[in-house]
Amino acid sequence: MVVGDITSSTTLLVIGAGPAGYVTAIRAAQYGIEVTLVERAEPGGTCLNHGCIPSKALIDATDVAHTAATAEDRGIHADPAVDLAGMVEWKDGVVDQLTTGIDRLCKANSVNLVEGTARFADEHTARIAGAGEGQGSSTLEFDHAVIATGSRPIELPTVPFDGEVVIDSRRALTLEAIPDSMVVVGGGYIGMELASVFAKLGTDVTVLEQLDAILPAYDDAVTRPVARRANDLGIDVECGCTVEGVERTGETARVETTTEEGETETHATDCVLVAVGREPVTDTLGLGAINLEPSPDGFLETDATGRTAHDHIYAVGDVAGEPMLAHAGMHDGRIAAAAIADEPLPADPQAVPTVVFTDPEIATVGQTEAEAESAGFDPVVGTFPFRASGRALSTGRPEGQVTIVADATEGYILGGQIVGTEASELIAEIGLAIELGATLEDLVGTVHTHPTRSEAVMEAAENALDRAIHTLNR
Ligand code: FAD
Ligand code: NAD
Repeated sequence: MVVGDITSSTTLLVIGAGPAGYVTAIRAAQYGIEVTLVERAEPGGTCLNHGCIPSKALIDATDVAHTAATAEDRGIHADPAVDLAGMVEWKDGVVDQLTTGIDRLCKANSVNLVEGTARFADEHTARIAGAGEGQGSSTLEFDHAVIATGSRPIELPTVPFDGEVVIDSRRALTLEAIPDSMVVVGGGYIGMELASVFAKLGTDVTVLEQLDAILPAYDDAVTRPVARRANDLGIDVECGCTVEGVERTGETARVETTTEEGETETHATDCVLVAVGREPVTDTLGLGAINLEPSPDGFLETDATGRTAHDHIYAVGDVAGEPMLAHAGMHDGRIAAAAIADEPLPADPQAVPTVVFTDPEIATVGQTEAEAESAGFDPVVGTFPFRASGRALSTGRPEGQVTIVADATEGYILGGQIVGTEASELIAEIGLAIELGATLEDLVGTVHTHPTRSEAVMEAAENALDRAIHTLNR
């Protein structure tokens, strides 16, 4: 993968080998297009190396320890000793397997994966700066390009990262020692997912959220069980507070906040994790050379196929805007590859699911009842609480519920909101129902295995039809 100082050409240049970029590259190669995929760091991008995968590995591993330590009511008396170095090594092994897999998939699909930073020189040429010392630069001419450069954490000017005490999520996933205390700035996806990881490791965690509630993008009905569990885990959640600044005091820090009532507070802590959102990466690209301006919010504007203002240059994934989710980026990639290959486009999704891997998990797809009403539907809603599920009770985690939203007249499924253990898996059934135009009758007519959590989806549909068996009708 060493890049010499030469000029070569490719039909399609893909910049960035995160989930959006590598999926675009592989799919385009499957269409018979010659593809060069350029990545300045590790294949797999944020998702595989510093995001989805390592965070989920730690969420799971810390939950194993915490579940074992808190299972006295099930007759289990254990006091697991957590070896953080061992846990991190295992997590790194999972990441390695997947990133090596990307390398192998590229080779198997004849994608030319090149290590380096791609920067536009003009509308059909990029300079590729080699990643390592002495690797030089080369010139690559292309017919089409796809920008998949992803995003990075937003840095608060009042709480700048120092990589030691004031850290971002990437650093939080590689800590060598368990901090005694941690202040998490931002009660969104990353803040709430990692708050539970550290709380389960025994860290004294405080979450500071500037809005009135954690996970502000979600309804109270699904965030309430998460807030309750956070409280049980000893996480102190303080909403409506503005972080004014941070003062380093040796190996610790003091975070200054003001409350909505104007009161000033100080939080002394060993570690400050700032997770207040992510911003697109466009400054690596030399966009001036191709006269492409990001929109005022920093993202690259595209049409529905990912095409930018230039017909032959596309943008996919986080760099092209919300939702900044790996599965959305991968879907963007499949569409862009089909558009470039002039092949039929994949079906336009009716709904993109979202999952927050908190404890318990939140998963949603399609419309809530209020959204369905605003869209002009006459919605009917069915719910099923997991406390009425034999399977949920037998796992010791019966909190949460499934809610299904359907059109009252025709019964078409419009959306679903789930909070509970394994919500991330259960939401797929409701997503498929929406995409297939399935109705409540289709869901209740599908035999679900017993005892499983998936029965709750069928039971929620029965509840919407006033035919609930294992719970009371509406
Ligand atoms: P990225 O994955 O960011 O990849 C972009 C790549 O481009 C990078 O590898 C970068 O090095 C490279 N690059 C940038 N500029 C250049 C250049 N000029 N030349 C060459 N290479 C370049 N999403 C989910 O759906 N589920 C989750 O559970 C989830 N968990 C997350 C947890 C955390 C802690 C974080 C931070 C994010 C999480 N996300 C999750 C979001 C997810 O990681 C992103 O949506 C996803 O990685 C975006 O994919 P992408 O391909 O657009 O960009
Ligand atoms: P986020 O947008 O989910 O949450 C940021 C939170 O910080 C919000 O609640 C916001 O109100 C709060 N905030 C902003 N400024 C603040 C301030 N000055 N003081 C206190 N609170 C402040 O962002 P994130 O948690 O950084 O995650 C970034 C993105 O990464 C997500 O939006 C999502 O797209 C992606 N992600 C997805 C998953 C998943 O799919 N499970 C997991 C992690 C990250």
